[in-house]
Amino acid sequence: MDEIEKRVHTVLEKINQAAAQANRDPATVTLVAVTKTWPIETLLAAYAAGLRHFGENRAEELATKRPAIEKQLGTDNGIVWHFIGTVQSRKTKIIADYADQFHALDRLKIANRLSQRLLENGRFLPTFLEINISGEASKSGFNCTQWETCATQQAELRTVVNTLKTLPGVSLKGLMTMAPWHAPESEIKTVFARTHQLAQWVQAEMGLERPLQLSMGMTDDYPLAIAAGATHVRVGRALFGSRHR
Ligand SMILES: *Cc1c(COP(=O)(O)O)cnc(C)c1O
Repeated sequence: MDEIEKRVHTVLEKINQAAAQANRDPATVTLVAVTKTWPIETLLAAYAAGLRHFGENRAEELATKRPAIEKQLGTDNGIVWHFIGTVQSRKTKIIADYADQFHALDRLKIANRLSQRLLENGRFLPTFLEINISGEASKSGFNCTQWETCATQQAELRTVVNTLKTLPGVSLKGLMTMAPWHAPESEIKTVFARTHQLAQWVQAEMGLERPLQLSMGMTDDYPLAIAAGATHVRVGRALFGSRHR
């Protein structure tokens, strides 16, 4: 087995274990392989190892890699392209054209611009709201540091969800969060648990038909995220090693 195949195997094993421990069906957890900074050859190796969900965080990189992969594997290759990074206003068109799912919606302005372009290109973009639970200034996302008690934060979420309902092309798929950097495990668990509770609150409060999905967990914490209900884990280093740029 080549290196990537071994690593894929290990990560899938850990996902299975974490799901089993949480009494969850491992099929409810999607492994998004974070391929940012890695060349096409790495993506092809991941594909050969069976992975079909790829995550990129730079618009230009997505717009280069997706066509390059489609040239090699055809357009009917089964790959789902996840855009996991913050989107700048002037790059919304690229995301609307090339991403299949978007994990980091942090402003309504971006949703509006995406929707405009999606109306033009006839595409559809399931979208996760990025949620800032820990309050770290370095993190983007809607401020939900005190969502349980803060009427202002709750009102903002209601507005966002209601506005998304009216925007063609963009649909609310779930919530996304990032654990605080270098935090003790207990703190990371709390962030994931509160995000899970927030998803349930939004669903009930806004009368959503389907449960919201949860995009949370990276190389250092994806088993904890699965224990807290993550449906999408975004894993880079555990699959491909440390980034070379
Ligand atoms: C890079 C990145 C990841 C993956 O991080 P690893 O620590 O390499 O697993 C996940 N989510 C986002 C938003 C990222 O930018």
